[in-house]
Amino acid sequence: MEVTRELSSDDGSTKLALRTDDGHPIEAVLMRFRRGGGGAEAALTLPPRLTACLSSQSGCALSCTFCATGRMRLRRSLTQAEIVEQLHELQRRAGADARIDNIVMMGMGEPFHNYDNVLASLTELADPRGAGIAPRRMTISTVGWVPGIERLAQDPLPVRLALSLHAPNDELRGALMPVNRRYPIARLMEACELYQHTSGRSIFIEYLLLAGQNDSLEHARELAKLLDAHAVSRAGFHVNLIAYNPTGTELTGSPDHVVQAFRDELRALGLQTSWRISRARDIAGACGQLAAETTAT
Ligand code: SF4
Repeated sequence: MEVTRELSSDDGSTKLALRTDDGHPIEAVLMRFRRGGGGAEAALTLPPRLTACLSSQSGCALSCTFCATGRMRLRRSLTQAEIVEQLHELQRRAGADARIDNIVMMGMGEPFHNYDNVLASLTELADPRGAGIAPRRMTISTVGWVPGIERLAQDPLPVRLALSLHAPNDELRGALMPVNRRYPIARLMEACELYQHTSGRSIFIEYLLLAGQNDSLEHARELAKLLDAHAVSRAGFHVNLIAYNPTGTELTGSPDHVVQAFRDELRALGLQTSWRISRARDIAGACGQLAAETTAT
């Protein structure tokens, strides 16, 4: 593929715009995180942890209201080689001494609409003769494509699953994500139970906080109740809260004090909860912002 544009963020992230040989645009992002543990001094001297956010498709068919990629519509799914090549392009930017050790399939596209090529790519990237990235450091993020969750539960590659839930009830979720009409929350939760039982792994619940939409304490309680009812163990779910990144819609992200109150409420109700700080926001490389702006015509 051809790299058509390269952008650097103030937080050290790099976003690449690439074009397939038949002209379809995609984007991939390299994020640098300071390592925790060992105290602040140790964290400063350790090399940063490098995470690659890869795309599985050019565009996407699922049209989530908050997502710039969804507005591009689907061009096509990527091949195994095109997914793997994104990692290698990012690794080149990371430099010879710094190895990418995390992969998140959270770029453009719904990975479970391209299941075979995504799993084949991750299997290739896990091979110690190549990139050698541990499967437990790979995460596939879905908006709730139930057949994919059920298939991943049985897959021999033990990668992690993240589910973009974003709302605790069908009315709200259906308004934000058309996929909910096909797979409503009850059906989705059945698949989550199956995944937890079969794989023995927990699920990351991604929850985008949108001002005045899904961010009240009542929503937090509804979410906790829902997840509690479908967790097969105490650690069945881990919630990641994400403040919404602007993508040119009328939606706005919740202010920090609202995110904090939402997080505190979930924790008080016994849910493991983190607040994920967005990376690469200033170069439109954060969650929901990837849209191949340079080539999408
Ligand atoms: S959030 Fe994911 S599934 Fe939804 S439109 Fe964007 S890329 Fe597609």
